[in-house]
Amino acid sequence: MKAAIGIDIGGTNVRVGLVLELGEVIHQSRIEVATHADGELFLNQLIRTVHEFLAFSEDLNVLGIGIGSPGANIEEGIIERASNLPWKRLPIVERLSSVFDLPVFLTNDANLFAIAEKGYGHASQMTDFLAVTLGTGVGGGVYASDQLVTGANGLAGEVGHVIYERNGRACKCGRQGCLERYVSASGVVETAKEYILAKEFPSELYGVPEHLINAQLVADSAKDGDVLAMKVFEDTGRILGEALAGFVAVLNPEAIFLSGGLSNSGDLLLKPARASFSKSLLSIYPNEPVIRTSAIPDNDAGVLGASALVWEYSKKLNESSLTEI
Ligand SMILES: [Zn+2]
Repeated sequence: MKAAIGIDIGGTNVRVGLVLELGEVIHQSRIEVATHADGELFLNQLIRTVHEFLAFSEDLNVLGIGIGSPGANIEEGIIERASNLPWKRLPIVERLSSVFDLPVFLTNDANLFAIAEKGYGHASQMTDFLAVTLGTGVGGGVYASDQLVTGANGLAGEVGHVIYERNGRACKCGRQGCLERYVSASGVVETAKEYILAKEFPSELYGVPEHLINAQLVADSAKDGDVLAMKVFEDTGRILGEALAGFVAVLNPEAIFLSGGLSNSGDLLLKPARASFSKSLLSIYPNEPVIRTSAIPDNDAGVLGASALVWEYSKKLNESSLTEI
């Protein structure tokens, strides 16, 4: 049975998973970043972990190792300048390749959801689609003509930092008015706080201390019929739909997949998003792209996406060796 190792590098933990071809994670491990702040120490621990995984999978045909990380320099196979990681320059591909007789692939973590959706989710038969993650921030991954779009520097798909509002909310990227300041979990909280201050709509949220207002509470209140909370989701969905219609003008995708915490609010967000999407869409398309939630569970998305890199590239390697013949 074919399998792949997926390594998902995050600011707190590095998750390593052994994944079967249909997306079943059969073995998992975690390395804490804070206690492995020295690059060499981390690489040695990672190598030990992969050795353990390979010993565990003797009866499997492990085809390769996929890695997703912030600050991935795909060309050189190194991780560098990631603001939430302690390592300045980590030659991860070279080190793993020198130890294991397996191909090692690296991509930017923002692409992992799209790769997982393509490898194991609803997009397996699609050639053109967009995956948007609505978490604390907003990330994106793009497939065009059956290829993951990486861009000139591996930084394509930063859909969260498209400017939505001129001189709008301050973003951590240093600019103002980025989309992710509006349609993320933190954006929902900010909108709710603005509406609470404005006191225009009736709400149970007026009595809630400010620090206790989070996206889940706003979603729960909206589901209970709270007028202010419903208005927050209506407006968030509208902004999202308008932005997605704009992306369609650039990419002409078959579908747009939404993932991340905020997408779990379901119709509360999707209904207004779909309505404003249809309204804002250019009228040239014979079929309107579908907006749907991702098939990939949030918790496993990183490891699944990293492992699916292996299938993605093995398929391409096979195709190119066939062409050479
Ligand atoms: Zn920004």
